[in-house]
Amino acid sequence: MTELGPSPLAAGEHNLSVAQARAAILLALSPLEGAPQTTPLAQALGRVLAADVISPLDVPAHDNSAMDGYAFDGAVLSPKLARSGRIELQAVGSVMAGQALAHAVGQGQCLRIMTGAVLPPGQDTVVPLELCSIDGEHISFDAMAVRRGDNRRMRGEDLTLGRPALLAGHVLRPADLGLLASLGLSEVSLHRRLRVALFSSGDEVVAPGQPLPPGSIYDSNRASLGAALRRLGAEVIDLGVVRDDPAELRAVLQQAAASADAIITSGGVSAGDADHTRSVLAELGQVGFWKVAMRPGRPFAFGALQAGERKAWLFALPGNPVAALVTFYVLARDGLLQLAGARPQALPLLRVRSVAAIRKRPGRTEYQRATVAQGDDGQWQVTLFGSQGAGILRSMSESNALVVLHHEQGSVAAGEMVDVWPFDGLV
Ligand code: AMP
Ligand code: MG
Repeated sequence: MTELGPSPLAAGEHNLSVAQARAAILLALSPLEGAPQTTPLAQALGRVLAADVISPLDVPAHDNSAMDGYAFDGAVLSPKLARSGRIELQAVGSVMAGQALAHAVGQGQCLRIMTGAVLPPGQDTVVPLELCSIDGEHISFDAMAVRRGDNRRMRGEDLTLGRPALLAGHVLRPADLGLLASLGLSEVSLHRRLRVALFSSGDEVVAPGQPLPPGSIYDSNRASLGAALRRLGAEVIDLGVVRDDPAELRAVLQQAAASADAIITSGGVSAGDADHTRSVLAELGQVGFWKVAMRPGRPFAFGALQAGERKAWLFALPGNPVAALVTFYVLARDGLLQLAGARPQALPLLRVRSVAAIRKRPGRTEYQRATVAQGDDGQWQVTLFGSQGAGILRSMSESNALVVLHHEQGSVAAGEMVDVWPFDGLV
């Protein structure tokens, strides 16, 4: 044992803060190896870039106009030349987007130009159409209305030839697909999808669509966790419901370890179930049982299972439906992203006023379900959902955010600002 204490991955029980638990997971997981997959852009949304994309061209490829107007040599705007207060130019032709210029433009001349059309050499400024007086080929405008270089988009101002446009590990969003398309790319090199085996455990847990015997409960965790995994871009291997039976658990875990990169289970790690789960996991690999100082979601197990040459990472989540989801987001999400080759980035926390007082004791992190909405004064505020029980899944459905009450934080007074983790983002 070192001064730091035993590794949280060692078999046995460990008391950890959320920060310690997250750090231990992120330290343990490194990106999977495997050949990158060349994938059409249309199938790349949410996937992880396997290599830096180096820009094969300048975007835009030419200096071009940001407005419909007249292009001219901005030198005429020098204070001396513009003394009269009005610039007068002769229009000698026009250039549309997509056209190559055929006209030479001399001193005192200008060119009608459309948005996106290439600026001819020497023409560095565009006066918008609406600022011009037009009389046949005579164009005039106020010399103060534009400055030299106005309304010019510079070659390479978006993406520059030879420079990285996107970095390996980037998770592709809609704008990124547009950006890759703007480089003329129709395919992109991606990490393969993470394969995640998912099962629920418990004698009382019944798959939806089956009759519900007395004392049983429908399996909601596979539905919610499976969806959360797909949102992360994972391929889900659904292994159903496993009874509280060591032989069955062993068989399913072996199957999972042989086929998946990661295994997500729910149920079976809380005190009542832990003993038989623990002995099976000890046989199959190295798994630490954690009591994470968080609510909901204290019992949790993390480690690696071995199946011949293969290794699969296990995240064993608590069974209560809210605890299962919250521990998934807090403890598993970033680890899975890292395993998939992504660089997980901290999700932004917003500071929002709490409508009511919140009781909280220091020494654990709490994730309370809540709704962020605008109050009568137009300010954004957060209201907790009434029932914060770890089994009340409606608290997630009817909320749009988690209030994060940090480890050292104590109770919150009404009107105080709290940190909030919104469920949904823009993209
Ligand atoms: P456990 O962690 O196995 O002790 O389960 C804690 C609570 O969560 C119990 O009330 C279980 O019935 C419930 N539970 C466990 N697994 C599921 C599941 N897959 N879907 C819904 N509830 C579950
Ligand atoms: Mg159970």
